[in-house]
Amino acid sequence: MTKKRLRVIPLGGLGEVGKNMLAVEYGENILIIDTGIMFPENDMLGIDYIIPDFDYLLDKVDKVRGIVVTHGHEDHVGAIRHVLQEIQAPIYATPLTRGLLEVKLRRGGKLKDADLNTIKAGAQVEIGPFNVEFFHVCHSIPDGVGLGITTPAGLIVHSGDFKFDHTPVDGWPTDFGKLAEFGSRGVMALLADSTNSDRPGWTPSEAVIDPALDDVFRRAKGRILIGTFASLISRIQQAANAAARHDRVIAFVGTSMVENTKIASKLGYLDTPKNLTVSLDQALKMPPSKVALICTGTQGEPSSILGRLSTDSNRRFNVQPGDTIILSSHPIPGNEEMIHRTINRLFQRGADVIYDAIAPVHVSGHASQEEIKFLLQLVKPKYLIPIHGELRHLKQHAALAREVGIPAENIAVVENGTLIEFQDGKMMVGDRIPGGYVFVDGSVVGDVGTRVLRERESLARDGFVIVHLVFDSKTHTVKGKPEIISKGFVFVPEATELFDYARDIIRKLASDPDQKDMKNRIEKELSKMFYVETKRRPLVLVLSSETK
Ligand SMILES: [Zn+2]
Ligand SMILES: [Zn+2]
Repeated sequence: MTKKRLRVIPLGGLGEVGKNMLAVEYGENILIIDTGIMFPENDMLGIDYIIPDFDYLLDKVDKVRGIVVTHGHEDHVGAIRHVLQEIQAPIYATPLTRGLLEVKLRRGGKLKDADLNTIKAGAQVEIGPFNVEFFHVCHSIPDGVGLGITTPAGLIVHSGDFKFDHTPVDGWPTDFGKLAEFGSRGVMALLADSTNSDRPGWTPSEAVIDPALDDVFRRAKGRILIGTFASLISRIQQAANAAARHDRVIAFVGTSMVENTKIASKLGYLDTPKNLTVSLDQALKMPPSKVALICTGTQGEPSSILGRLSTDSNRRFNVQPGDTIILSSHPIPGNEEMIHRTINRLFQRGADVIYDAIAPVHVSGHASQEEIKFLLQLVKPKYLIPIHGELRHLKQHAALAREVGIPAENIAVVENGTLIEFQDGKMMVGDRIPGGYVFVDGSVVGDVGTRVLRERESLARDGFVIVHLVFDSKTHTVKGKPEIISKGFVFVPEATELFDYARDIIRKLASDPDQKDMKNRIEKELSKMFYVETKRRPLVLVLSSETK
């Protein structure tokens, strides 16, 4: 019988897709699993990315014994700089994941302070009271691992992001043997990927992409551009192989694409023969039919290569008629609108665009329903905590678990911040710790509140109005005619009446003997009036100077 309780604290990735982070706590010891980021939703203008809220750990930083990173995707590694800023603990990762972490840390100037430890799938490491066994899992990036964590309270298995692909690009399937071995040892709790829990059947193997790419390469007469994530190393390999089969050279385009492929090649996870790869400059000088460019920007991000190409604002080259553009990725939920807009614009510029609705140029890296059930059968956990997914995914995962015989009371469907405790082999779902979004805006962390977001939204959608008035504090009157300047709001020559009306409102409010909050009241009243009159909400700013 154990005296202390084991706690599992999901800090990100439960109830949402992205920013995965989880802590396992036993007495005075904490193990962190993953430090991911999430990309902002459409309505969060000007936000670069969102990191997990790990306030829970801040008064326990000296108890953190280690940080384990399961694989190199942004939603698992992206927040590492921000976590290391507060928590100095050794990091454990496989060679490729470590390489990608180093790229991130170097960019943030944090590499020299980081205590990075390379582990390989199959290794076992003691981290405080936790014995962590790393096992290989298939995913859309090589060198991913899941974790078997032996704690004083029992064995926990964490799946990482996984699929059961029998013919993966790197020829290295998920370690079924290890999973079965955990199962025979007795697993107290399984924490498993829920991303595709609403997809019936089995996720297709990465192998199905090759013939689809061949088909596109065979038909394309001009240049081929392949858009994918810079961290989708397996897909980049497949694109490179297709180019080699069809006698084209490849060039990598985009900073993160160039950096990631460089490190993956150096470590042996990306195999591109020397004469296959050329620089972008060389590629642009070659006949279009001999070239394939592998670039970033499948989510329609305006600053990515494909995003810039779609708006004709890329520096080095433009889309030309005859280009074939392959989008080899799936839309991250919420990005669909932006992606479709980008696809339409690329068509407008004369390119032929192939995306996964048209041809199987993408497969998911996550397990579908039959694979999830298979994992449950192999591991045979007493308790299940579905992780990595929106609430609907977590709920669906729970339904699958009930199908294979796990009692409903042994499944904890919880969102970020809910404490789950284990004692004497029993699971208890505890309170939810407060937490929310932490926004990262360039270099600023955390202090971009919703108000700033709302202001940016107004600015982007409806422009702004600045009012300048000269106020006589003795007579409580506005001197002369308040000056009104607007940008992006209305066509000024046609807004004379509207602005005259605004000036009436300003004069009236300014003459109120109660001068408290006068500027604020004018801003509010004008906003209201502009909305009523124009159905738009510009940002209104009042500046006043005083004469005595
Ligand atoms: Zn992943
Ligand atoms: Zn993930």
